[in-house]
Amino acid sequence: MSGNLQRALYPVRARGNEGRTRGTMSRLDEVAGARMGKHTTIGIGGASERLVFPRSVREVQDVLASERAANRKVRALGAGSNLLVSDGGVRGTVVCLRKNMGNVLFAPGGAVVADAGVMVPRFAVLCALSALSGVEELGGIPGTVGGLLTMNAGSYGRSIGEIVEWVEIVDYEGRLHRVGASEVRFSYRTAEYPVRGIIVRAGFRLRPGHTGEAFSRMKALNEKRRAKQPWGERTFGSTFRNPQGDENAAALLERAGMKGAREGDAIFSEKHANFMINKGRATSSEVLRLIARGREAVQTLSAITLSTEVEMWGIADE
Ligand SMILES: Cc1cc2nc3c(=O)[nH]c(=O)nc-3n(C[C@H](O)[C@H](O)[C@H](O)COP(=O)(O)OP(=O)(O)OC[C@H]3O[C@@H](n4cnc5c(N)ncnc54)[C@H](O)[C@@H]3O)c2cc1C
Repeated sequence: MSGNLQRALYPVRARGNEGRTRGTMSRLDEVAGARMGKHTTIGIGGASERLVFPRSVREVQDVLASERAANRKVRALGAGSNLLVSDGGVRGTVVCLRKNMGNVLFAPGGAVVADAGVMVPRFAVLCALSALSGVEELGGIPGTVGGLLTMNAGSYGRSIGEIVEWVEIVDYEGRLHRVGASEVRFSYRTAEYPVRGIIVRAGFRLRPGHTGEAFSRMKALNEKRRAKQPWGERTFGSTFRNPQGDENAAALLERAGMKGAREGDAIFSEKHANFMINKGRATSSEVLRLIARGREAVQTLSAITLSTEVEMWGIADE
């Protein structure tokens, strides 16, 4: 067993800061004033004060410990596929795992360890190639393992909380914790963890499967997705969560006349009324105005208050 695999599979012993090397901060991969529009799938968002791309769990620990000591706010970024960032940008530090933390390790017996920054479509392909089953339904979600775990994302009857065994989280003091799946409260598009911080790694247990069958299933599901959802557009996917009841958010918005509604370059997709699209130079204010109009229209027609699924950063003042 390689050193990496051994470290990944065995429980975290040290819960404190022991063993963290000093001096890694000078070699950090980071950008000051990065435009968040380049890091979100809808292509909207002003500058972040500091965007850091850690290469290891240890670097994440170092960044979080030093930012806590400096009393600066830290946010985690995955693929930015469920995010609306203000045109005014965000203060503090954004920690993005997608660029440098995307390893996946396979062990006997269907155990898989994934860095939180690995893209889920890639993860699903690697699992299929290893003849493991359980991730196929998630293979079309354009987020990272960490992003999906944060909100228990899912599709086609499967959510990520059903297949995860444990999650490693670095808390805002810089301490690493391993949390068993039974300690997390997973429900529809939410996950409550006993520790708050940045998810850095997760362990999965998958069923033995068949590579050809896994690829056929993923192909069929992606075709289904393409038929129902806009493709190749700048979007953050669903704007609102599906409320309880028979009608989903897209159907409610469509019935309320919001399909194709627009504010500037922000538009509710003609193909799927709950998908928000940036047709060109949409601003965060335009998106917010359209969200408010959609919510109001559904409230008036159906007496249902939709709550947003998309996460918002730096929006409070708009
Ligand atoms: C075309 C399209 C289709 C989509 N289809 C689906 C679908 O079928 N099902 C579905 O559930 N969603 C879907 N989504 C939404 C989105 O892909 C998911 O919500 C996904 O989980 C977001 O992952 P991310 O890595 O992009 O997270 P981001 O958008 O980068 O972040 C979202 C939130 O998670 C937090 N976060 C991200 N990474 C971490 C981390 N490592 N540790 C702690 N917090 C973190 C962020 O701080 C933020 O609050 C779709 C989006 C698009 C654009």
